[in-house]
Amino acid sequence: MTAPFPDGDLIEVRQASFRYGDALALDRVSFTARAGELVGLVGPNGAGKSTLVRLVAGLAAPHEGSVRLAGLDPSRAARREVARVCALVPQEPPVHWPFTVREAVMMGRAPRQNFFAAAGPLDRGAVEGALQACELLHLADRRLDALSGGERRRVFFARALAQEPRVLLLDEATAFLDLAHQVAAMRMAEVAARAGLCVVAVLHDLNLAAASCDRLVVLSRGRVVAEGAPREVLTEARVEAVWGLPVWRGENGATGDPVVLPRGPTSPGASS
Ligand code: ADP
Repeated sequence: MTAPFPDGDLIEVRQASFRYGDALALDRVSFTARAGELVGLVGPNGAGKSTLVRLVAGLAAPHEGSVRLAGLDPSRAARREVARVCALVPQEPPVHWPFTVREAVMMGRAPRQNFFAAAGPLDRGAVEGALQACELLHLADRRLDALSGGERRRVFFARALAQEPRVLLLDEATAFLDLAHQVAAMRMAEVAARAGLCVVAVLHDLNLAAASCDRLVVLSRGRVVAEGAPREVLTEARVEAVWGLPVWRGENGATGDPVVLPRGPTSPGASS
């Protein structure tokens, strides 16, 4: 893995606004993240989380404000240059390709290879390291379309690690995973952050976010409405205001992490 960026923020979003047509998706959002931290982006559906991730990855440019990724403007820099800094693990990538796991992970090396050169020892080492880190060595020769959803997620995580980025963006990397695989995915994100990467994860499960993230940033209707340590951010009043649901805020007796649960019945008629 490349050495961590010295100090300072690897992601710097300043007063960024973004519209789809006339609809404002991000409204003067400022957001920063540093090497070595795992930041959770949380908020209700439609809050602007994926749009913010797209701006950071350079897949779209803000209409106002600025985005910097390790000093680059990611929407203007060459894609290869951006890909050497930043890897995005998408929600559910298409998987009808006839590739094996090892071949798919090797694709993460593309930004670091010459166009016509065969994979070198550094590429092979990075791929084997990523396969090992994601517990995929035993599946390395299996085709992608013959994997479970959880295994496929690990492949795309491994592909991102093989890219040797400084910034790792996870867009709902835990969606559709069972509990054990959700926890495993967040463990990998934590390991990546402790190894010096700047990791930003879009998460829906507030309890998973609280248990694994160093910092949470709450988006609501295109604006950042709170940020800080999970226990400061996830107050009952805030969750109720942002998610529109009365909640109980407690504490995980085993870890001390904050826990948020709906207050009252979750099924129609359960209260009668
Ligand atoms: P989140 O990831 O928090 O669910 P998004 O960033 O996907 O939120 O969406 C933010 C807002 O932008 C929402 O109102 C959504 O409907 C709108 N939006 C997202 N993508 C598009 C698109 N391709 N075209 C038009 N509107 C979009």
